[in-house]
Amino acid sequence: MKESVTRVEKIKIERAQRFKEKPSLDGIPFGTYFSDHMFLMDYDEGRGWHDPRVVPFANFELSPAAAVFHYAQEIFEGMKAYRSPKGDVLLFRPAENAKRLNSSAERLCIPQLPEEYFMEGLKALIGLDRDWVPSIPDTSLYIRPFIIATSAQLGVHASAQYLFAIITCPVGSYYPEGLNPVRILIESDDVRAVRGGTGYTKCGGNYAASIRAGQRAENQGYSQVLWLDGIDRRHIEEVGSMNVMFLIGGKVVTPALTGSVLPGITRKSCLDLLRDWGYEIEERALTVDELVAAAENGALGEAWGTGTAAVISPIGEITYRGSVSIIGGGKIGALTRKLYDTLTGIQWGKTEDKFAWSVKVC
Ligand SMILES: *Cc1c(COP(=O)(O)O)cnc(C)c1O
Repeated sequence: MKESVTRVEKIKIERAQRFKEKPSLDGIPFGTYFSDHMFLMDYDEGRGWHDPRVVPFANFELSPAAAVFHYAQEIFEGMKAYRSPKGDVLLFRPAENAKRLNSSAERLCIPQLPEEYFMEGLKALIGLDRDWVPSIPDTSLYIRPFIIATSAQLGVHASAQYLFAIITCPVGSYYPEGLNPVRILIESDDVRAVRGGTGYTKCGGNYAASIRAGQRAENQGYSQVLWLDGIDRRHIEEVGSMNVMFLIGGKVVTPALTGSVLPGITRKSCLDLLRDWGYEIEERALTVDELVAAAENGALGEAWGTGTAAVISPIGEITYRGSVSIIGGGKIGALTRKLYDTLTGIQWGKTEDKFAWSVKVC
């Protein structure tokens, strides 16, 4: 377990007058019920980041001209706090989220946020709202840090003011009925991101561009789309808002991080585990033709998505231009299952954490 040090402007705490009732997590829609407090911090050009504070969860007041509403100068992160069997509250590789937030910030011309503020803000907020971290198996407290451009100015250039906020919401099990393989539609028209664009960042704009294809797939009974590259729609990029991996001929193949793919922390952790288990890994370009051929000739043993929300999402079926390929007999594969069990074991503090990924917050 790693501990971080405080080297930051003191965080002011304003406690809520009244505490909300904690919801039952059975079937509550993701991200609709928020905890009692939030963390805020402001940025002004010439002054830098200042006034870190934990305050009661409440609406923001912003000018209708705030840059975020018009030009989407906005970035976010997604992470979870997990309750261990001992009752501790654990985060999974939070320093990676702080780093990625700053990588996104650089691309969107948002000022760098000192990592200490990210970590200390999380600790102060989760410390105060620790009762919001649920202890029912497979539940967690979802954490959403984000930065928005707040200057009231319609000119197209970087904002002079920003707001950094962290909000949290308790979430139920992602798989209330157990880990079941999903059906995926390969999208050959819309693209999520292009090289040179913002695909490697977590920015709202990427999501806005992805909603239409997701909606079309859902209407046809699929869980997610498999995204292809923006140039010739041949190379596989991601699945929904997850990274994607395939077990082909005994090797693990995953698209390389070439700018349009989001560098997932779950992806990175899976690759670390797989290397540790002796698997050969190929981070490379993978065409949809190669994938479909591998599915048809039996070389494709397993396929899964990786991301914080679902951790591991087994893929049982892919449809490309109307033709359906079944993967692994439509059942969850042994390696997919092992990755899921190992990662969730570490995240919830139940399995040995030999890479020291878990950080105790309180
Ligand atoms: C957040 C995200 C992922 C997964 O990243 P994790 O750090 O593993 O949660 C993958 N793809 C996209 C597009 C994302 O936004």
